[in-house]
Amino acid sequence: MKETLIFDLSREGRRGTRLGSPDVPVTPAGQIIPERYLRSKPADLPELPESEVVRHFVRLSNLNYHVDKNMYPLGSCTMKYNPKINDYTSGLDGFTAIHPLQPQKTAQGSLKLMYELSEMLCEIAGMAAVTLQPAAGAHGELTGILLIKKYHEPLGEKRDKLLVVDSAHGTNPASAAIANYEIVSVNSNAEGRTDIEDLKVKLTPDVAALMLTNPNTLGLFEKEILTIEKLVHENGSLLYMDGANMNALMGITRPGDMGFDIVHYNLHKTFSAPHGGGGPGSGPVGVCEKLVPFLPVPVIEKTEENGRTCYTMNMNKPESIGRMMNFYGNFGVLVRAYTYIRMLGADGARRVSENAIVNANYLLSRLLKKFDLPYPKPVMHEFCLSGDRQKKQHNVRTLDIAKRLLDYGFHAPTIYFPLIVSEALMVEPTETETRETLDAFADALLKIADEAENNPELVLNAPVKTPVKRLDEALASRKLNVCCPGC
Ligand SMILES: *Cc1c(COP(=O)(O)O)cnc(C)c1O
Repeated sequence: MKETLIFDLSREGRRGTRLGSPDVPVTPAGQIIPERYLRSKPADLPELPESEVVRHFVRLSNLNYHVDKNMYPLGSCTMKYNPKINDYTSGLDGFTAIHPLQPQKTAQGSLKLMYELSEMLCEIAGMAAVTLQPAAGAHGELTGILLIKKYHEPLGEKRDKLLVVDSAHGTNPASAAIANYEIVSVNSNAEGRTDIEDLKVKLTPDVAALMLTNPNTLGLFEKEILTIEKLVHENGSLLYMDGANMNALMGITRPGDMGFDIVHYNLHKTFSAPHGGGGPGSGPVGVCEKLVPFLPVPVIEKTEENGRTCYTMNMNKPESIGRMMNFYGNFGVLVRAYTYIRMLGADGARRVSENAIVNANYLLSRLLKKFDLPYPKPVMHEFCLSGDRQKKQHNVRTLDIAKRLLDYGFHAPTIYFPLIVSEALMVEPTETETRETLDAFADALLKIADEAENNPELVLNAPVKTPVKRLDEALASRKLNVCCPGC
């Protein structure tokens, strides 16, 4: 199962396809490029025939784990299967062969797509307007927080605190800190939801906003959301929703109807753009009416010109917070999300969320035989188990269980997050998994729980079937060696 580095497969003089001699005069590089930029010796590139290059990368892709191979149960990440038609449409020449600086008149199709995608996202979340610019969920958070700042500025009040619930994703306090806010943590209650009494204490006049994830990272719906909304608004603060968990809500309920002022969407989660390999992502932000003037520029608008519909980019928004990205965001992701929503239609979008919820609750009901659930069910689209029992009784940690899952051919769930669950094992199956796949995953986890009881060494020494075993997870980022051997 080991794959050799491509540099070690190299043999001097081996070549792929070679082109014939050019039929135009050849100019030596030295006559075009200044001497100081030229290499003194040839680049140290591996030398292989095309066939060996292809086989090397196909073998690597087989060693890799990806959502086209099997279920990817990472909680919070919504690793659903990404329909191939999204790649087809985003690869169409009309979308890939345009330049971001070409005249708007010649890019009407792309502008129309962005305009309509914004409209659809507005409808899904019940917001007044959407910007498609932010490049990720975290970037959407930062955009939202800058909007909050811009809203409070002219009111002349000193509001330098942001409230974040303790079950929140780490990006929430990180984004707040980047925007120069003081972060105040609000406790969760015994049910795993926002502790209203604690919220009341912390909602002081200097609070700019509350950031809330609904359903939260435990997969629990904030049942008291209308009470929370009232408290926050009565305090003159704004209500921000981390919408990364929108996969549980589509067509069922809307952040706008719950009174959220701002919400970000993760197109690469809920709306099926592939992710996990480092991007690109997209984190559009929706806002309520009073925040519309502050949205980033350019704003895509639909106008009528001589009886013809025309889409334009408006830079002239004096109250705007400015740009959050060069050009208009990660356009290819926008095409994928647009395709996904159009393919589903309104009923389909609702079915996505309903099936995501059913799948999560089914899987949970099977796993409860062996694992503890620290906060009461039912859950929405994901759940967070605790490996406390296995740790206390058998000295097997959640990390060991996650490693053992690799031997059974599954990607591990999210572990040790959210921070309020000890030995957390957080699972989000998504709607795209069949009952058979869910059962196979449940069987594997239950078997590992049995092993932890009866043969803990098996779990403690896992994985045994992967090409590499337990790696020092911090070392790779400290000792980078991405170049050729000997460099
Ligand atoms: C993924 C996620 C984020 C951050 O989104 P990115 O696109 O990874 O920046 C924020 N909050 C929650 C709950 C998430 O699951």
